[in-house]
Amino acid sequence: MDVTDAFAWLAEKAGSCTRCTLSQTRTNVVFGDGSPTADLMFVGEAPGQKEDEQGIPFVGRSGQLLNKLATEVGITRSEIYIANVLKCRPPANRNPLPEEIQACTPFLDRQIRFIKPAVIVPLGNFATKYLLEEKQGITRLRGQCFPWRGAVVIPTFHPSAAIRPGGGARLADMRRDFALIRRTIDAARHRTKEQSDSYSRDAHGESLLASPHDQSEMTRDKEAVSLSGETNASEPMASSLSPVVTPVDVDLTVPTAPDTPVEASRHAGQLGLF
Ligand code: SF4
Repeated sequence: MDVTDAFAWLAEKAGSCTRCTLSQTRTNVVFGDGSPTADLMFVGEAPGQKEDEQGIPFVGRSGQLLNKLATEVGITRSEIYIANVLKCRPPANRNPLPEEIQACTPFLDRQIRFIKPAVIVPLGNFATKYLLEEKQGITRLRGQCFPWRGAVVIPTFHPSAAIRPGGGARLADMRRDFALIRRTIDAARHRTKEQSDSYSRDAHGESLLASPHDQSEMTRDKEAVSLSGETNASEPMASSLSPVVTPVDVDLTVPTAPDTPVEASRHAGQLGLF
């Protein structure tokens, strides 16, 4: 099994998930979108109405702004991976509940393990607080580099904060943050990612699974004569990510200063899941 198969299996598990009550009100599970081997991963809060309808993250106005900001620094949507803390839409776009975050984030943890991005950008308070386990709000944390499991976390505002009336200052801050994101990716491209011993990636999808439980569960699924579509909520998938929350000055020196978009095709290609 290769990485694409393992990732597809994870998406399939999310697609039939009933771990929390949002499964009763969603239209579609919004697992994620983009290359599973991208250098850059955005993590939002939860699907909105359009995302729920289409099953794709960041397709509404927030998504348009995200695309615009990324394009301004030479990064295209096809070169990144985007996911949310919650995979299902909370009714009326209310804030995620703690129990929903607890139930759903094992999917996000595994997405990060699979993708192994060089740079992770949490968008807004919920994603930032989850990743950094930090009580400070996004206004204090944004625009800084946090070393995190061999990657760099750079929090910024959720695009919806910049779209609101009076969001001009936040938009300007986001532009600064995206310039930092670009510089950090350029620097990361010139480092060997094998330095990180927090993850393992090789040609075998099984080795990318977060735990022996995942591996045995996937094997069981594949051997089943028919899939019931049920997710066993009695077997919670444990979160095992452990961040470090001290901002650092990342060495952004690169031998050259390429204007080309991020190269995000080091490994297997697009999933074609969505
Ligand atoms: S745990 Fe996540 S994927 Fe499962 S029902 Fe809740 S929000 Fe949806």
